[in-house]
Amino acid sequence: MSLRATIDFLLDDWLGVESLLQRERFADHSRETFGSVLDTCARIAREKFAPFNRLVDIEEPRSDGERVILPQATHDAWAAYAESGMLSAAQDYDIGGMQLPYTLESAANAFFAKASVSIGAGMLTTGNANLLMVHGTDAQQRVFAFNEFSGRWSGTMCLSEPQAGSSLSDVATRAVPDGADFEAEPLGPRFRLRGNKMWISAGEHELTENIVHLVLAKIPGPDGRLVPGTRGISLFVVPKKMVDAQGRLTGERNDVALAGLNHKCGWRGTTNTLLNFGEGRFRPGGAPGAVGYLVGKPGDGLRCMFHMMNEARIGVGMAATMLGMAGYEASLEYARQRPQGRPIQPRGPAAAGGPGGKDATQPQIPIIEHADVKRMLLAQKSYAEGALALELYCARLVDEQHTGDAASAQDAGLLLEVLTPIAKSWPSEWCLEANSLAIQVHGGYGYTRDFPVEQYWRDNRLNMIHEGTHGIQALDLLGRKVVMDGGAGLKLLATRMSTTIERAGHADGLAERANELAAALQKVGAATKAAWATGVPEEALANATPYLQAFGHLVLAWIWLDVALVAQRQDTPVNLGKKAAMRYFFAYELPKIDAWLGVVSRREPVCREMRDDWY
Ligand SMILES: Cc1cc2nc3c(=O)[nH]c(=O)nc-3n(C[C@H](O)[C@H](O)[C@H](O)COP(=O)(O)OP(=O)(O)OC[C@H]3O[C@@H](n4cnc5c(N)ncnc54)[C@H](O)[C@@H]3O)c2cc1C
Repeated sequence: MSLRATIDFLLDDWLGVESLLQRERFADHSRETFGSVLDTCARIAREKFAPFNRLVDIEEPRSDGERVILPQATHDAWAAYAESGMLSAAQDYDIGGMQLPYTLESAANAFFAKASVSIGAGMLTTGNANLLMVHGTDAQQRVFAFNEFSGRWSGTMCLSEPQAGSSLSDVATRAVPDGADFEAEPLGPRFRLRGNKMWISAGEHELTENIVHLVLAKIPGPDGRLVPGTRGISLFVVPKKMVDAQGRLTGERNDVALAGLNHKCGWRGTTNTLLNFGEGRFRPGGAPGAVGYLVGKPGDGLRCMFHMMNEARIGVGMAATMLGMAGYEASLEYARQRPQGRPIQPRGPAAAGGPGGKDATQPQIPIIEHADVKRMLLAQKSYAEGALALELYCARLVDEQHTGDAASAQDAGLLLEVLTPIAKSWPSEWCLEANSLAIQVHGGYGYTRDFPVEQYWRDNRLNMIHEGTHGIQALDLLGRKVVMDGGAGLKLLATRMSTTIERAGHADGLAERANELAAALQKVGAATKAAWATGVPEEALANATPYLQAFGHLVLAWIWLDVALVAQRQDTPVNLGKKAAMRYFFAYELPKIDAWLGVVSRREPVCREMRDDWY
């Protein structure tokens, strides 16, 4: 089944996205306009992204000391993406957007992620501009966001520093008011920034005429000290090249300097940089210090940044998912063509067909005929297609949050709080595992660069690290999301799962799966309580990652059962394939939660008790 067919099935038959057309914001759209966006993106991804995926891996970004050089294909891909209008897909018509539902935007972006996840930096640019549309002033929107939406300029997110990754409260970049008239600046209160930002994706390149950095920094108090913790963090828009209030380049370089390129394991089509702000290499306005304009209120920087987090994390989850899907498709094609081995005799004593129950006089069969290879393919299908369903479900919740009535918008927001750590982390772990299985299906060939699967694995390995590491997502889920508001989010999710369990309980052949899901839901609920039984965070959170894994598998089992209810309608090969993936997930994956929840429930102390000198 092609990606397009899978997406159509999930959007039309499962999520019923057509119902969004009844909402005023999407009223000018139709099934046809939705379809043509998907067609266009699939075509651009096929023509401008996929053929260059290996090229951008081999020709990684390099610097001549001043500029960063990227292959021409990356320039062409950026231009085609910008021209498609996808950078402003969800924005209003009157600023040149398409007013596309986020569900469609996500689905359309899936084609690019699968074709070449690292060529485009569109997600960062859109995220940056979307943030300014919510928290920026009119001038900041007009000058910075609009030029990003058009693709003339691109955007970055500058949070991390060499000494501050997971712990953003330790950000040390300083921002001080720039002159007595700093508040009179049309682009927002003007500051001078000094500090180092590490790991900044797309931080330097020549793809666009300017780069808009969104930078977290601290404004020192009257005593010159930085306020500890996240309360002291503010957000600034810092252009690479200085601009006037109309958005014209002034010809001056801002004091943002490339200190070095990071050489990555994968995802090499996107530059990754160490940027020095305010080191004095450039002197905008005749003085050193990077000029930045305050976005939102002082001290509100992290809250502004987090505004975009749900969508950014769904974006990361979707990228991981599409790498899983790419590996699945590649290994499926390979398994259909690779003859190796003979079938195990269907009946009779093993001796009749030699020691392995095989008849050596028979011709070899394609490896897809072996049960163990089928297992590896089914695992990949259940991870990648299940994750795609999860990401689109979450994207649909974002639309509900933005355009639903008050009650359903509130429910969608609550569900997103609980599901976002899963949407980000589950595909990052399991679609990476899918990529490992894709290599395994290829045997020795999979371990070479003659086949694409090793690159998919390397590209995917990033996703458990950025946008909040796996461990940090786990702490967020167990430490905050499932306990907030007296567990309101978890309860609402359980209600949604119970509806599926109820329906599946009456569906032909699904009743047993419904019981298994109900039991798993009960176990996760009990483990949540047991983890917090002593009320000691150190005890509860020591096993947050196994909790995240069990919770994620519960969510995916629910998603698969819900999808199977639709696939149940007719016995086509596509639907039978979906049901087989669901059966695989319940038989091979869901039982794993017992081991994960075991350590959570008894607050297994071995990890937290381990001491440095015992290693
Ligand atoms: C290719 C790439 C692109 C990136 N792009 C960007 C970007 O565009 N902008 C940006 O701002 N950043 C970016 N990042 C940075 C990324 O978000 C950080 O790497 C990430 O947040 C982790 O920070 P760290 O690398 O400092 O690791 P650390 O925070 O040092 O973590 C190391 C390990 O310790 C664990 N750990 C840390 N703290 C805790 C804790 N309190 N409890 C339990 N475990 C903990 C982590 O889970 C992890 O396993 C990028 C990173 C990479 C590799």
